[in-house]
Amino acid sequence: MMDTLVTVAYLVAASLFILGLKRLGSPRTARAGNRLAAIGMLIGVVAALLSERILNPVELASGLLIGGAIGIVLARRTALTEMPELVAVFNGFGGAASALVAGAEAMRFVTESTSWDGQFGVFPGTPTEAGAFAVTEQVFGVGEGLIVALSVLIGAVTLSGSFVAVAKLRGRLGGGAFPGIRLLSIVIGLGTLASLAAAAVTATVFPTVGWFVVALAAVAVLALVLGVLLVLPIGGADMPVVVALLNAYSGLAAGATGFVLGNYALVISGALVGASGLILTQIMCKAMNRSLANVLLGGFGATSASVASGGDSDQPPVRPTTADDVAVMMAYAGRVVIVPGYGLAVAQAQHEVRELAELLEAEGVEVSYAIHPVAGRMPGHMNVLLAEANVPYDQLIEMDDINPEMAQVDVALVVGANDVVNPGARDDPGSPIYGMPIIDVDHAGQTIVLKRSMRPGYAGIENPLFFKPNTQMLFGDAKESIKGVVGELKSLRDS
Ligand code: NDP
Repeated sequence: MMDTLVTVAYLVAASLFILGLKRLGSPRTARAGNRLAAIGMLIGVVAALLSERILNPVELASGLLIGGAIGIVLARRTALTEMPELVAVFNGFGGAASALVAGAEAMRFVTESTSWDGQFGVFPGTPTEAGAFAVTEQVFGVGEGLIVALSVLIGAVTLSGSFVAVAKLRGRLGGGAFPGIRLLSIVIGLGTLASLAAAAVTATVFPTVGWFVVALAAVAVLALVLGVLLVLPIGGADMPVVVALLNAYSGLAAGATGFVLGNYALVISGALVGASGLILTQIMCKAMNRSLANVLLGGFGATSASVASGGDSDQPPVRPTTADDVAVMMAYAGRVVIVPGYGLAVAQAQHEVRELAELLEAEGVEVSYAIHPVAGRMPGHMNVLLAEANVPYDQLIEMDDINPEMAQVDVALVVGANDVVNPGARDDPGSPIYGMPIIDVDHAGQTIVLKRSMRPGYAGIENPLFFKPNTQMLFGDAKESIKGVVGELKSLRDS
């Protein structure tokens, strides 16, 4: 009876994960999708902990309350711009949990199925009357040994890799690479694989149970080092791809642990996280026009601090403008496209942007928003911000759809975007971001760029857009600048 209840609970949890994922496909239904998946996770965790008698109901309720409170504080204190770091931390913890659970399960098998006396190479078994040792039970099969070691490997790589990614995203680690790091990674990688094979083999052979424990510990230590070495040389600008990939790893680790435990809800949820993480990785690579191998071996953005940040004496001067000039230009435009970027998130100008768009629409101007897939600092960042300000979804147009229409746009208003509108990525083979698709704002009649200074964006490179004859710069915090334009538009309307 209990078994059936648990199976049904796992089935419900898995169905909620799948329904939740489906709803994450559109900003309109994403919140509900997230909630469904969270409920599924709660059901799965409660069913696992109660059915295995790991916790009693009081301990379970206390754990949920304490964990829930920590989660609420963490999520509320994290600014939207820090979301990639939070996701990376979650990935790291997910990997750690998988590695620890798989390791603990292996140790349980080892201690319960033998009376091994702790000496390497000594036959595990129970003392017979004659004082000799007799085999009690086989420790593990090759399959179990391999899966446990794999869970530990992927989990440990995810843990250390994620924390290096957090340090990079927070700007605490610059390039990080050192000469010979690739070679060292290969050596450590081979060592990890050798330990993995050793763990699988020793898990099956009774006299070597001690070596199984040693091999597993070696997998854990080497995989932790490997995670650091693999992420360290990757450039800051490629971190979103790395976070997506680590997310996939955390799913794979959880799925492998599900096999160790024989827990199918964990296998399904791990597979879903692994698959969606890999799809996201692929989407992000495509959006940056880079192959995964190129990201992992490249180092794009690693030198951001050393790249010129404006002020090249060969460049023509930029043309600063004012809020009232921008207001007049937009009020008389037929079509305006707003291109949001990371600066919109920093300035939290989404509500002011929506007010601006509504004022323009009231004057008969057609307004839409051009969304670049990697604008901001996390996938879907701009969608989330604009949805928060109740911008209608049908006004959001994806990069591939807006670009062919850009020549018919009178004014492109770039709000805190930089790399994603850098024409060098399209035209200059020497540009470090050459090949990354961009929003072609320079094809619009006029381009107004809102930013505070001539400082570069995330990739740390100069943007030739700012020096084009049809580009004007409205310097200042985006929120204050838009407030200024809105004020001018209102006085134009009322005059
Ligand atoms: P960028 O980082 O290229 O540029 C943002 C610009 O916003 C800066 O040039 C900055 O200029 C300006 N800015 C910052 N604060 C303000 C403010 N308060 N008011 C006005 N402007 C401000 O952003 P994009 O969105 O164009 O490009 C995203 C970049 O981030 C890409 O390189 C992408 O690869 C990378 N990335 C993307 C992730 C994702 O998943 N979406 C995750 C991590 C990185 P100034 O300082 O002069 O104001």
